[in-house]
Amino acid sequence: MITYRELRNRWAEKVLKAGIENADFELNELLGKATGVDCRSGAFLALLDEQAECKAEFESLCNRRLKGEPLQYILGEWEFYGLPFKVGKGVLIPRQDTETIVENAINKLKGRENLTVVDLCSGSGCIGIALEKNLNCDEVLCVEKSDEAFEYLKENIALNKSDAKAVSGDIFDEEVISIVPMADLIVCNPPYITGEDMKNLQTEVRFEPETALYGGDDGLDYYRDTVRLWKHKLKENGMMLFEIGIGQEDDVMKIMIQHGFKDVRTRADYCGKNRCVFGYMKNSPKLCTDVMSV
Ligand code: GLN
Repeated sequence: MITYRELRNRWAEKVLKAGIENADFELNELLGKATGVDCRSGAFLALLDEQAECKAEFESLCNRRLKGEPLQYILGEWEFYGLPFKVGKGVLIPRQDTETIVENAINKLKGRENLTVVDLCSGSGCIGIALEKNLNCDEVLCVEKSDEAFEYLKENIALNKSDAKAVSGDIFDEEVISIVPMADLIVCNPPYITGEDMKNLQTEVRFEPETALYGGDDGLDYYRDTVRLWKHKLKENGMMLFEIGIGQEDDVMKIMIQHGFKDVRTRADYCGKNRCVFGYMKNSPKLCTDVMSV
């Protein structure tokens, strides 16, 4: 017989040696996953049979983690903005940094009604679903092109009993753009890692889909094309809001200003790093055409 705590400690050293910093936290999570017992609470002194199936299961989860697989993929679920999201191979893991984007959007739009929100490169759906849950929206559309990620998106909408709609397609496909309604907010966490940085990704990040990470040589491909193709889909005074990588604020603000956005700003995350860029589209060309044709 062995206690949960002894079993955890047996693995702690190996996990620390592998360079995993939060060894105790991660092992508690893995132990919880394998045994079905919440190991963040007081289950540590309970006894386990050395031959128990859940002990073998825990050890196999630990071995996956030692090979670099992200904890979130092994657990299969991760929290974002207080909501649960299914994650696994083929979908980007929701990051805490990205909560900055959601918080900014909520601050800007709370109190307003009948909003239409479009979440581009939606992945797990974490941004779109969190916004749908926290704003008064008529419609939230989450657009995702990868089939694997799209399955997670649909699952997460169901899991959160969200009214967001999943749209399968490429955000640069004219047909996709044409079926999406005019929006009060277009939000996008695009792939933004540069060619150079793709060579030095953290082991865990290498398990995530390259299509969700690589933003072209200078990391800015998606900003240029999204701004160009989607600015016409904003209502008068509509907001476009991007997550950005470290040091990209000036370039992304410049792109938005060149395309006629007003009040373009950047905002920092809780670590003090500029994490998002947003701006407003005034007198959108589409609106002028509508007014003229009345
Ligand atoms: N934030 C992710 C990372 O640093 C990148 C995600 C993205 O490109 N949008 O790994």
